[in-house]
Amino acid sequence: MEEGRIIEVNNLRVSFDEREVLKGVSFSVNQGEITVILGGSGSGKSTILKHLLGLFPVKSDIVSVFGSDLAEVDEDDLRFYKKLGVFYQNGALLNSLSVGENVALPLEQHTNLPAEIIEDMVRTKLNLVNLEDAFYLYPSQLSGGMLKRAALARAIIMDPPLLFCDEPGAGLDPVSLAGLDDLILKLRQQLGMTVLMVTHEVSSILRIADKILFVDNGIIAFDGSLEEARKSEMKALKDFFTVGTG
Ligand code: ADP
Ligand code: MG
Repeated sequence: MEEGRIIEVNNLRVSFDEREVLKGVSFSVNQGEITVILGGSGSGKSTILKHLLGLFPVKSDIVSVFGSDLAEVDEDDLRFYKKLGVFYQNGALLNSLSVGENVALPLEQHTNLPAEIIEDMVRTKLNLVNLEDAFYLYPSQLSGGMLKRAALARAIIMDPPLLFCDEPGAGLDPVSLAGLDDLILKLRQQLGMTVLMVTHEVSSILRIADKILFVDNGIIAFDGSLEEARKSEMKALKDFFTVGTG
């Protein structure tokens, strides 16, 4: 794998029943970059992320994450999973646990660290997402923006060098959305995190994307920098940047 590339996908094909949703998707993700996957509803964006998690058998020439061929990674490979943070739109917190307990969950499941260390790590991450006062609060006591930031803290509790986000800003007002974007930029800057994100939010894309992948008809119809995407003559991309389609 070429140096600096942490994801390499070559000819990924996915079918559900008889229908081929991904017809040979190829792209790479560079270390330290924020790559945004765009595409219409049902185009297969989430399917791409799910297949990069190594949870499904993949049909492709190669899908490699951190140099591990996903054909060979099994679900219990902790070394692999520690490298991935996952932040889903519906990755809700558990309502019966406090924010601190929610964020601590992955550490409790995957490490044998003592409680004081876990608490320290949780507080550090809550500080990072500007939720230092929310440790003892319950999800029902948080605003939409705070819930997202708490879920983000949980996604990065293991310090993953790679973060997957699937429509993280869905349902947020513009101010909370901008706050979430700033946090994602901070993670990249302070922790050197690489981010692969699905989003429809034009404002977010303009603020944070380095690279755009546009999924259409089961393939990557556009692959280039944000600059190039904005100048593209491809109608669907033009429409996206002028009106912001869903
Ligand atoms: P997007 O995230 O771009 O909106 P998805 O990746 O969720 O789209 O889905 C792409 C297509 O694949 C959709 O038509 C969806 O209905 C279908 N699909 C996704 N997951 C499954 C599944 N587990 N079983 C059957 N069909 C699925
Ligand atoms: Mg989706």
